Amino acid sequence: MDAMRRKRRRALRRILAEKDADALLLTHLPNVFYLCGFSGSAGALLVTAGSATLFTDGRYTVQARREADGAQVRIVAGSLARAIGERLRALGCRRVALEANRVSVAQQRLLRRAGGTRVRWVAVEGWVERLRARKDPREVAVMRRAARMASRVLEEVLPLVRPGIRENEVAAEIEYRMRRAGASGPSFETIVASGARSALPHARPSGKRLRKNELVVLDLGVILRHYCSDLTRTVYLGRAPDRVRRWYAAVLEAQQAARQALRPGVLAAEVDRAARQVLERSGLGRYFVHGTGHGLGLEVHEEPRLAAGQKARIEEGFVVTVEPGVYREGFGGIRIEDDVVVTARGPLTLTDAPRDLIEI
Ligand code: ZN
Ligand code: ZN
Repeated sequence: MDAMRRKRRRALRRILAEKDADALLLTHLPNVFYLCGFSGSAGALLVTAGSATLFTDGRYTVQARREADGAQVRIVAGSLARAIGERLRALGCRRVALEANRVSVAQQRLLRRAGGTRVRWVAVEGWVERLRARKDPREVAVMRRAARMASRVLEEVLPLVRPGIRENEVAAEIEYRMRRAGASGPSFETIVASGARSALPHARPSGKRLRKNELVVLDLGVILRHYCSDLTRTVYLGRAPDRVRRWYAAVLEAQQAARQALRPGVLAAEVDRAARQVLERSGLGRYFVHGTGHGLGLEVHEEPRLAAGQKARIEEGFVVTVEPGVYREGFGGIRIEDDVVVTARGPLTLTDAPRDLIEI
């Protein structure tokens, strides 16, 4: 049995006891993987004080037996909900928590019916997500490799970023190189946004050709051994005019300020504030239209969110992105994004691609 996963299940069981719940039914697959190592694309995990049961179907018989760690495997031929209901009755569970933001109304109805009248379902949120926010050393090591891999892919592809090539060609080159480098895929749809399109923070690569004297935002990440990385760099095709230089310097300063602010005990909102203050001082506050960053791990967007009003406290072991940006319609966008792990000695940046304005 894996010691780290055993520790995670123990931490979850402490929450069950605190919240006076007999069981938690996990249906969100990254949470299932986190607690028992099963990486199939269908299944549910039921955790009680004394047991863990993985329910999945016949397609995953071999995989579940091989991967499931610290959990009994139930291969279910018919309805998963019915099998879960039977198990709950056999275990004598009364108060059963389910992941409120992960279960559809239809699934809830099936579970209610399957559990019968003795089971009381309680909707809960974030129990496992909160545990996942704090990465153990082994997770950080994998995430460092994922961050470095994204950095190398970006560097490799820069020579192709030239006037004439299409955005979607650059995106395809990026994702091809990720796979060749050993990634299981991109952690999200790669963004290549040029010219006026770079002002769209979540632009999809299009057939537009890159042109001279344009900004190009490249945002990419890999999945390596289930963990994500997320990296953005901004390129100028040609010699950047003064305004681009000034804006780029302000975004970079904001990014450094937020990275420096990432210390155990600080509020997520304060990290956002650190970046926002710099851009406001430069008169660019109104062009910074999103939060400063987000947690990163088994999913590309996790707890915590680094944004105004976020009261979560940053802890040692958190891995987050820091990605301030400015976007102005008709002019373009500039964003700089790195992945940072919070340590007792301060922030440690995992992505290692150069951060200066790239002029091609
Ligand atoms: Zn990104
Ligand atoms: Zn991001």
